[in-house]
Order: sequence, then structure tokens, then C-alpha cells
Amino acid sequence: GKAIGVFTSGGDSQGMNSAVRAVVRMGFYLGCKTFYIKEGYQGMVDGNDNIVEATWASSSGIMQLGGTVIGSARCSSFRTLDGRLQAAQNLIERNITNLVCIGGDGSLTGANIFRQEWPSILEELSKRNRITEEQKASCSHLNVVGMVGSIDNDFCGTDMTIGTDTALHRIMECVDTISTTASSHQRAFVLEVMGRHCGYLALVASLACEADWVFIPEWPPEEGWEDTLCKKLSAERSTGQRLNVILVAEGAIDRQGNPITANKVKDLIIDRLKYDTRVTVLGHVQRGGSPTAFDRILGCRMGAEAVLALMDATPDTPACVISLDGNQTVRVPLMECVQKTQQVQKAMDERNFEEAVRLRGKS
Ligand code: ADP
Repeated sequence: GKAIGVFTSGGDSQGMNSAVRAVVRMGFYLGCKTFYIKEGYQGMVDGNDNIVEATWASSSGIMQLGGTVIGSARCSSFRTLDGRLQAAQNLIERNITNLVCIGGDGSLTGANIFRQEWPSILEELSKRNRITEEQKASCSHLNVVGMVGSIDNDFCGTDMTIGTDTALHRIMECVDTISTTASSHQRAFVLEVMGRHCGYLALVASLACEADWVFIPEWPPEEGWEDTLCKKLSAERSTGQRLNVILVAEGAIDRQGNPITANKVKDLIIDRLKYDTRVTVLGHVQRGGSPTAFDRILGCRMGAEAVLALMDATPDTPACVISLDGNQTVRVPLMECVQKTQQVQKAMDERNFEEAVRLRGKS
């Protein structure tokens, strides 16, 4: 049977374990050996007991857990050819020629580079007598399939990334929790949520939590927003609402490109309206905790599809990402999605928001 290596890389997200489990289980079902590659690319480069064969038991009882039990890391040596040669040698020694990468656009880019380079890597390793002719022949192609684990939902080509739904739930729980105390004391709360380049979490959470106002990077408020905001808040108070909830995405900015921070908004409200106003930065709470049913099932479905995609891969099949399109898990070209995602980031950096939103939409 074929050997599959599965790893998680870059920032962690809830539901990654479910995806790992599904890869292992689908692998078993199809008669493959599956290896956990621990600590992302770092474990691939370091080898030894960072690459261990998965068992049915070791993939049990993990889908309930947030984060990634096989570890994730950033790895500078994988960015170098020497690092990738070492990683390849470690894979070839275990006959692993199928990789499932669960990570963000950086991790997926690395996997794609590795796949494209594979023939020249084999030549080099063979020239240096680090692999045998037999190994060279039996490991002639590297198949790569990706899945996107990210709480930000910032990847082009999939409706949802693994972890986004759980992060939303976490935000919702926090806002609901804070709302009761805010109401008791007639306070305004300004909550900072994650999302440096992408306001998805803040926007959707604001709908789900009945927020009074939301600031997102893609939509800097119109000049004079300070007046509009204060008018809105006081209008709400005058109808009997005892609290105010305002969400601020980390990357929120005004029309000049200046950051709109939670503290700035708090100072404004205190200055103009004299409301008792507090700031809460949700921070890493959003990345943690038990994954929602949605993320568990998403990880399961994507993981299973990833293995099927590997089994179908031929030397000419470009690397793909498993994505969610409506209610279907589908395979989409990896590099196209990565490039589009990077174009969005560039458009955001250039404050070309319409272009960013257009690129993010389905084409
Ligand atoms: P994310 O996957 O969340 O976008 P990073 O961009 O930090 O996170 O990438 C995670 C890891 O993937 C890096 O530490 C590095 O090991 C690897 N990687 C990223 N980009 C490349 C690249 N262009 N070439 C090789 N490896 C890369």
C-alpha cells in the first residue's frame, strides 16, 4: 500500500485533529500506512521520532480537542534547499510519497514548492549517495493535497476554513457572557476580535451577537463616523437599551489608514457620551476550546476527500486543496487559490477594498 504523511503547519485551529483523524482512518480503509509528521515542517526536517506511524487507537479521542495534537510550528529551514533535501530524505526512508498538509497559505505554498522540486531533489539526494537507486525509483513522484486550517476564513477557494465556525462560537459565547454584566451596569463594551486582514469573524459575530456597531478592515467607516456612532449609541439608550456592544477587528482602520483600536473607540464613547465603557480583547480564547460540530464534520469530510484525492493523483495532477463549495467537498487547484489569496492580501495592503472583496467572492 501507499504511505501517507499528514502534518499541521502554521497557526493552529480547532478541527485540525478531526481532519488528521479522518486522513488516518480513510488511509486504513484504503490499505495505506499513514504517518504523523509532528511539529509541521520542522518535524519533517528533523525526522527520527517526529515521524511516527499512526494507529487506529492513536487517532481516537482527538477530534474533541482544539488545537492540533501532532503539533504545529514555523520552520525556517524548510525554506532552504538543504532543509527540504533533509525532509525529502526522511520521507523517502519511510517510503512516504503522499503528503497531506493542513495549514494556511504559507504552508500550502511550501508544500507545492516541495512537490514541484521533487524530481531535482531526488537527483541531488542520489548524487550525494543519500538515497539508493531503488529508493529513487520507488519514490519518483510526490503527491500533495492541502486543507486550510485557519480561524480567519481568509482563504480564497473555500466557503469555510477549518476552525472558523468554532472561533465564531467562542466570540459569541464571550459577547453573550459580557452582555449580561454590561446590561446590569448599563455599560458599553468594546470587544477586539481577531482578523488582521479579514473581517469575517468580526462581521459575522456582530450579526450573531446583536452588536451595535462593527469595525472591519475591509470597510473603513465614512468621515465623521464618530458622530454617527455616538448618535446611534445614544438613540439606543434612549429606547431603553441598557448596554452597547461594539466589535472591532484587529486590523480595523479609518479612511486615512490609521488603526481604529478598541481603546480609541472606548475613549471616544467616554469623552462624548460619558458611558461607563470597558474594553475586552478576546485574544487567543478565540483559537481554543472544543471544536463545534460543524468544524468536526468539516475536518472529517475534508480529510476523507484528501486521501481520495491522493489515491487519484497522477504525476501530472497538480496539487489540490480540499474545499467546501456550498455543501460539497471539492478539489480545487492549490496554486490558483494561494495566488488569489495573496492577491487579496496585496489589495488589502494597498487599501483597494473593493478589489479585495471582489477577489474573495466566488468566480
Ligand atoms: P501559514 O501556513 O499559516 O500561512 P506561514 O506562512 O508561517 O503560516 O508558513 C508556515 C511554514 O510553512 C513556514 O514556517 C515554512 O516552514 C513553510 N513555508 C511557508 N512559505 C514557504 C515557502 N515559500 N517555501 C518553503 N516553505 C514555506
